[in-house]
Amino acid sequence: MYEKKDKKNAEEKPRLTSLAELGEFGLIDRLTRNVEIYHPETLRGIGDDAAVIDAGDDVMLFSTDLLVEGIHFDLTYMPFKHLGYKAAVVNISDIAAMNGVPRQMTVSLAVSSRFSAEALDELYAGILMACNKYRVDLVGGDTTSNVKGLTISVSILGVAKKDEVVYRSGARQGDLLCVSGDLGSAYIGLLVLEREKSVFHVDPNMQPELSGFDYQIGRQLKPEARTDIRNLLIGLGVKPTSMIDISDGLASEILHICKQSDVGCKLFEAKIPMDEYTRELAKEYKIIPSVAALSGGEDYELLFTVPQTDYEKIRDVGGISIIGHMTAAAEGKNMITPDGKSIPIKAQGWDGMKDR
Ligand code: ADP
Ligand code: MG
Repeated sequence: MYEKKDKKNAEEKPRLTSLAELGEFGLIDRLTRNVEIYHPETLRGIGDDAAVIDAGDDVMLFSTDLLVEGIHFDLTYMPFKHLGYKAAVVNISDIAAMNGVPRQMTVSLAVSSRFSAEALDELYAGILMACNKYRVDLVGGDTTSNVKGLTISVSILGVAKKDEVVYRSGARQGDLLCVSGDLGSAYIGLLVLEREKSVFHVDPNMQPELSGFDYQIGRQLKPEARTDIRNLLIGLGVKPTSMIDISDGLASEILHICKQSDVGCKLFEAKIPMDEYTRELAKEYKIIPSVAALSGGEDYELLFTVPQTDYEKIRDVGGISIIGHMTAAAEGKNMITPDGKSIPIKAQGWDGMKDR
């Protein structure tokens, strides 16, 4: 009888889990569920914008990001210099999101023979331009060949005083939800570039029509990391209770803070800061403008919470918007529309695992 059962089991194909059904974050959770921390100086491992490692009075912040051709960038409209700049900036942004100061980075390349040395010179010119601007030392990396395309991996170290570090997990009920700069333009910039790319594909003699979209395209091709926010807040005497950088879209990042802090939130749609022309362009693309901010991503602004008692200190500061507040977890995560409707916030950010 046992024999028979075993035979039957052997014939049954094990059901394999597709990456699409897990999603990016489900996959990360699954792969890291057996991770053990062996060293007490590892103050924070997986789960924030950077790992936090004890170094006496200071902590070291450690983060890494991978950019893959065809997934994260398209060389049809992404100049190599911009690509290098952006690869560095997205890492610097993760250090800024911990309220730290970026210090050293490594750059690793997997590159196919399709690329010339001159193209990679340009890539490095962009990387070094960001290193110069943000005062980061390029201290190493790795170079290897690739069957197809270009893959860039950047890792970064940053530093902060132990009591300065801000995690995703510190938001409390009643805290104000704030964001730097404006949102949604990087996504609209991408749509403009994609539209001109399709024009270009139809008729290679057509020149892409990119004038007039400088802000949106600049936000997509040459984002900046908000390392200035740390000093701005120190000057105001405000320490955020939680913080994250907006790489995937406002909705997804709000949900990360809510989940890790075990709170809910009320986000006011009308308070989401957006460039006026970006709003107009969103409508042209038949997108509700706030959706470009909620789901678009790649703006690399900082989303953070501050205690309600800091309201006076922060309310009139240029370039910072108060967009809502945190609630009890049981109240859920909601966006309040201008006409007072409450809509549950869902993450529709870039999900690299879906539909591929
Ligand atoms: P970010 O958008 O800030 O770069 P991610 O969303 O990529 O962060 O990652 C979320 C967390 O999961 C981070 O702490 C990151 O270090 C960790 N992580 C992502 N991928 C892996 C992996 N393959 N193995 C271990 N940890 C991972
Ligand atoms: Mg991040």
